[in-house]
Amino acid sequence: MNDEIESELRKILGEELKQNVVLRDYVSMKVGGVADFFYTAKDIGNLTLAVSAAIKLGIPYFILGGGYNTIPSDLGYPGLVIRNESSNIAFSPDFSLAIADSGVNLGCLINQAASHDLGGLEFLFSVPSTVGGAIYGNAGAFKYAIGDFVKSVTLLMPRDDTAVIIKHSPKWLNFSYRSSALKTDFKDDKYKPVILTATLQLVQRRKDEILRMMQENLETKKKFQPLGQKSAGSFFKNIDSTPEKSAGYLLDKSGAKKLRVGGAAFSKHHANFLINHRNATATDVYNLAEKAKKLVKEKYGLDLKEEVEYIGKW
Ligand SMILES: Cc1cc2nc3c(=O)[nH]c(=O)nc-3n(C[C@H](O)[C@H](O)[C@H](O)COP(=O)(O)OP(=O)(O)OC[C@H]3O[C@@H](n4cnc5c(N)ncnc54)[C@H](O)[C@@H]3O)c2cc1C
Repeated sequence: MNDEIESELRKILGEELKQNVVLRDYVSMKVGGVADFFYTAKDIGNLTLAVSAAIKLGIPYFILGGGYNTIPSDLGYPGLVIRNESSNIAFSPDFSLAIADSGVNLGCLINQAASHDLGGLEFLFSVPSTVGGAIYGNAGAFKYAIGDFVKSVTLLMPRDDTAVIIKHSPKWLNFSYRSSALKTDFKDDKYKPVILTATLQLVQRRKDEILRMMQENLETKKKFQPLGQKSAGSFFKNIDSTPEKSAGYLLDKSGAKKLRVGGAAFSKHHANFLINHRNATATDVYNLAEKAKKLVKEKYGLDLKEEVEYIGKW
């Protein structure tokens, strides 16, 4: 990126704008190269400012939530990575509603809702995520997904050389298994819509009951998933909901657990968790995933598709 762009961006974003930031430090897989520009948005105003600045200057942006589903390339990201740390939450207990900034951590939201005797999202307790990342990929567990609870979102929609704020319904978001319109319909666009806030329809439930459910879900997840390791969660999507078409089953039966590329291998505990065991690079992760897809294709004739997202130059 040239000096002129750097200087223009700095004029708008100030000292918080960083250059050449290693993305590995900001994603759970702990791989990835350098972002040309990196900015942490502490609130919705700054998130809007950063997105608008990138559009105005014609440089690509990427919204990074918790980085729990993102694999940045070893070659880095040629543009502005905006880490979303917006954190406001408001509750309307009479209507069982929560209005959360998109950068709010899900665990935080669930805990705070419990203090108002509002539940519903306990099933997501052990899913590491921001609200924005969860809505983008319709995060779910135990047969529920966040899309079931979204009442509306406010989005920053890129338009010409600026962006406008628009409120959308769940119908527009078109939620499906680990996906939404935000993930599918803007795939090839240089500038994707950005979730600013979400209104979630919760349910009245006693705090002690909510805490019990959260703990129960966490215990169940711990039994089946390697939660403490460097991963991005389930790497591939299930083909469908039958156990024999789950990505984990297909990978296991195809022998993917025996594969290893550099420091990357699949978990012995759960075949659909690709783990960075020993300083794996993003390329190791990518090559291992490709090998595993090939195995499954050869044995079952099925095409696994990534649930995780690769970003940057590959
Ligand atoms: C140990 C572990 C267990 C997991 N278990 C589960 C599970 O049970 N169920 C499940 O569904 N997932 C699971 N995951 C995956 C991960 O938790 C989810 O995908 C989560 O929703 C990612 O959220 P994030 O904020 O980290 O998103 P990021 O990884 O930061 O971003 C993911 C995508 O969302 C986009 N995005 C983020 N914020 C916004 C925004 N404000 N506006 C527009 N786009 C945005 C990003 O640009 C990117 O394309 C697991 C991951 C780990 C590491």
